[in-house]
Amino acid sequence: MIRKLDNNNDTMRVLVIDDEQGIREGCERILKRMGFEVFKANRGDKGLEVVEQEDISIVLLDLKMPGMDGMEVLPRIREMDDAILVIIITGFATIETAIEAMKQGAYDFIPKPFEPDHLRIVVDRARENLRLTRETEKLEEERKKTLLDLGTEKSRIRTIIESLPNGILVTNTQGQVVFMNPAFQQMLDLDPCRPAGEPMEAYISDEGFSKLVHDISQGKYHETDEPPSYELALNHNVYYMARGKPVLAEDGECLGAVITLINITTMKVLDQLKNEFVAKVSHELRSPLSTIHEQLAMVLKDMVEGESAEEQYILSRAKEKTQGMISLIGDLLDLSRIESGAVTREPETVHVGELMKNIVDFLQARAEAKKQTLSLELPDEPLPTITADPRGLESIFGNLISNAVNYTQEGGRIEVTVRKKGNWIVTQVADNGFGIEEKHQKKIFDRFFRVKNAKTRYITGTGLGLPIVKNLVDSMNGSITLESEPDVGTTFTVSLPIEKVGAVECAEPARTAESSA
Ligand code: ADP
Repeated sequence: MIRKLDNNNDTMRVLVIDDEQGIREGCERILKRMGFEVFKANRGDKGLEVVEQEDISIVLLDLKMPGMDGMEVLPRIREMDDAILVIIITGFATIETAIEAMKQGAYDFIPKPFEPDHLRIVVDRARENLRLTRETEKLEEERKKTLLDLGTEKSRIRTIIESLPNGILVTNTQGQVVFMNPAFQQMLDLDPCRPAGEPMEAYISDEGFSKLVHDISQGKYHETDEPPSYELALNHNVYYMARGKPVLAEDGECLGAVITLINITTMKVLDQLKNEFVAKVSHELRSPLSTIHEQLAMVLKDMVEGESAEEQYILSRAKEKTQGMISLIGDLLDLSRIESGAVTREPETVHVGELMKNIVDFLQARAEAKKQTLSLELPDEPLPTITADPRGLESIFGNLISNAVNYTQEGGRIEVTVRKKGNWIVTQVADNGFGIEEKHQKKIFDRFFRVKNAKTRYITGTGLGLPIVKNLVDSMNGSITLESEPDVGTTFTVSLPIEKVGAVECAEPARTAESSA
């Protein structure tokens, strides 16, 4: 039997089993002074009764007693509680009896007669031994408890991850799958019994998704970066949004990536419905508004100059407002068309230089009205053609140049430069106008965002021009960036890929940029 170790108070219990009264009382005096609680028995069987009833830690046991002697009592005590330390006391100490008693499990040995100091040393050693044993067992229990806690925590986290409705994928730095939760397997229609361990491409072959996972796994993103995302279309009806973060060690080393997958099909459907609704309403409003606008223009034209000045003012304001609404409807229609992916025209071979000349020519009048200089710089060597929708290109550069004209003071300067850089056509629209504060730059491509300050207050606009530009550039696999400083100016840079390095620039019939203004 293993004795309970919850008796942590200092008063350990000692039992003295000896038939000599003098020894029993002498031991009692010494042991009490040492701080023990002392029990006494004058015979072996009585001693065993005390062991049975009390929580005894140390037994001082006489070997020679009438009736049951010490060598008989010793194994019985060991049987009842093997944590009790038994110290043998005997007046017939021989090597043989000592060895025998030790073999039976006695802890120590004191020959009679003994000095009080001798008893103290032996009992103290036993007490220290017990204290250390108890401490070790306590530590062991605590260790077991911690391991149990850890085990419970681990299984709890695992259960949570496994019951998450979102897909979770964890990869190592080589892009091998380390873990996938059941939701991930279900979303990608994977066999639930298929183990992790293979390269990610073995489970899902999608170039963009692979790139996202490999870029994150290889530490191309930092923990503080906005989590990169990728829209995954598995078939035409189901869409997932994948977002990832690097898994970092304590020293900041990247250990892999953790990717979450969310089903965004419903959001996509809603977005499509919203686009269709906006397109429908805009379309329905456009004709009556255009009619009102034209009629207002006719009435204004027929009014005799100088007469009814107030009415003329009211009607011109109404005409301006209808023009603003017509522009808004035009932009909304463009945006919903582009966002729904219905870029109307098939890509054509476009001579960028020629197209830019036409746009700049078309907008020259507007710049002149504000006494601005609008220039176009093309490289000496002919530019390669690109394959794109020319209407889309007109809309991109028409919007950027008209913005430059709008948000630059009278007498300002707008410079458009076109260059070839590797496999890209890079166009910059730079002005020395109002500029855009840094805090607004992030939002500049958001729908309906317009900078409101004293300089822009009287400039009409819809806040849809730049979102249209961004959507079009994205649809052409290009990129757009801006650099801007308040009161210094703004430069928009558009890079478009040259898909086919084709025929060199040659003169083409002029195209107007009417859609862009
Ligand atoms: P809109 O011009 O119809 O307001 P945009 O989406 O084209 O809408 O532009 C959004 C906002 O960005 C504008 O309202 C303006 O404040 C700012 N902006 C755009 N281009 C420039 C520029 N070249 N210089 C300064 N601010 C600009």
